[in-house]
Amino acid sequence: MSQTAPFDEEALEAARKLFARETCFLMGAAAISGLPEADLPEVAFAGRSNVGKSSLINAVTGRKELARASNEPGRTREVNFFVLDERLRLVDLPGYGFAKVSREVAKKFQNLGRSYLRGRPNLKRAYLLIDARHGLKAVDGEALDAFDQAAVSYQIVLTKADKLKPAEVAKVTEATLKAVSKRPAAFPRVLATSSETGQGIPELRAEIAAACAL
Ligand code: GDP
Repeated sequence: MSQTAPFDEEALEAARKLFARETCFLMGAAAISGLPEADLPEVAFAGRSNVGKSSLINAVTGRKELARASNEPGRTREVNFFVLDERLRLVDLPGYGFAKVSREVAKKFQNLGRSYLRGRPNLKRAYLLIDARHGLKAVDGEALDAFDQAAVSYQIVLTKADKLKPAEVAKVTEATLKAVSKRPAAFPRVLATSSETGQGIPELRAEIAAACAL
């Protein structure tokens, strides 16, 4: 299975311009009742704690401190909303798989994430972040199931690609694509990114713009 680059220079430039506009923190919701109105297109980011989710949101929006790049589980318990130029929202879903919290607490975050996925008509795409060094693990299976059950279109984004050689990145990209190929709601393209080097960030911006028809 091979992937061709779907975006031309023009699309990449348009997406760059879109994301050069201001992104602000809108709000954090600790319960499903506290979500903002579903009046703008949204894309959501999910992943195991420490996968590099905050760093990726910061890289995509060009803001260093927008999403707190922190490993502390307590900071990522809410669904956090960021708004880009009053045109789209980026949604940071609670991280999963932390060792430090109890099963009960972990369940609560997962339920919040699940409720968000199920009840959001303006959610255009979810991005599931996977550490390129590890690939898909058992702990990610529940997230994949939740997306499929909610019938949310989702795309896998490999993070920290700078930690691997290009040939290794290509290998894990292929393997990941193959692993999700039979899942009904999985988008048939896997993006390799690095928040450190900027690899894949222009393409991710273009993916988001296309998913939101912007
Ligand atoms: P989160 O818990 O998913 O929000 O993860 P963070 O964004 O806080 O990142 C977790 C750790 O991974 C931090 O030490 C980051 O500096 C590091 N990290 C995040 N993205 C990258 C990346 O693209 N490359 C490298 N080398 N390290 C990264």
